[in-house]
Amino acid sequence: MSGRLPSRVPSSTVRRRPLLLIVVVLMATVLAGNLMAVSASSRRPAHGPAKARAAATGHARLAAPTESARPVRPGGLSHQSGAAGGDAAPPAPMFTIGAGGGAVALTFDDGPDPRFTPQVLALLATYHLHATFCMVGIHAREYPWLVRAVVAGGNSLCNHTYSHDEHLGRRTPAQIAADLRDTDDAIVAATGRRPRFFRAPAGNWTPTLISAAGSDGMVPLGWSVDPRDWARPGVPSIVGTTLAELHPGGILLMHDGFGHREESVAALRLLLPALAARRMHPVPL
Ligand SMILES: [Zn+2]
Repeated sequence: MSGRLPSRVPSSTVRRRPLLLIVVVLMATVLAGNLMAVSASSRRPAHGPAKARAAATGHARLAAPTESARPVRPGGLSHQSGAAGGDAAPPAPMFTIGAGGGAVALTFDDGPDPRFTPQVLALLATYHLHATFCMVGIHAREYPWLVRAVVAGGNSLCNHTYSHDEHLGRRTPAQIAADLRDTDDAIVAATGRRPRFFRAPAGNWTPTLISAAGSDGMVPLGWSVDPRDWARPGVPSIVGTTLAELHPGGILLMHDGFGHREESVAALRLLLPALAARRMHPVPL
């Protein structure tokens, strides 16, 4: 067809004009396309491909969250996705649970502590509930009977580093591996069980830390609600923040060690019936 067209066209200048018009339009289209491509490529460096990829996969929040930061749930992450990963490290910490209904998860960090862990365990037992305890290795080593009490109550164990090094994620892979192993060893020495979860102090996740936890067989565990009980803002504040921000599927961060946790225990005493009244049910991880 394209071979025949030129033979017809020369006989008429009237027909030549539409052809010229088509050529001009085609050239303009090609030129516009090139300009758009150049424009798009010039924009890319401003975002940075790595950053764009991180944002798309939820890794952007790994940059520099602090204990006061409140990680928001990344899409697609759930208990199942994290726990099922046997062949590779999970792509990001678990910030929500995949259980349906009004399920939420309670987590207690920085213990065990002989003053507060037993009170937390007693409250949980009163309501026949279970939580996850993110233990610091030095405390597990010092209070092995408390680690056993946590397990005896049907609760889950979580490695929270040996000495709560908030910068562990920036150490060498060998240092990270040694810290996680030492903490595991303290927990295993007390209970014979290895922790299923790992939580970075202050939520300071790095890809290296996530990878180390995964290769150690642990699920990186984040949270979705931080009522800042660690800063002792007052019981009404802890309870109010939790009830305002905790929704089904959420993971609540609280503390049973490393300091005075009277407020945490008092808040928990109010929260457990309040959550039940709101049809939220703490479930074990
Ligand atoms: Zn902590």
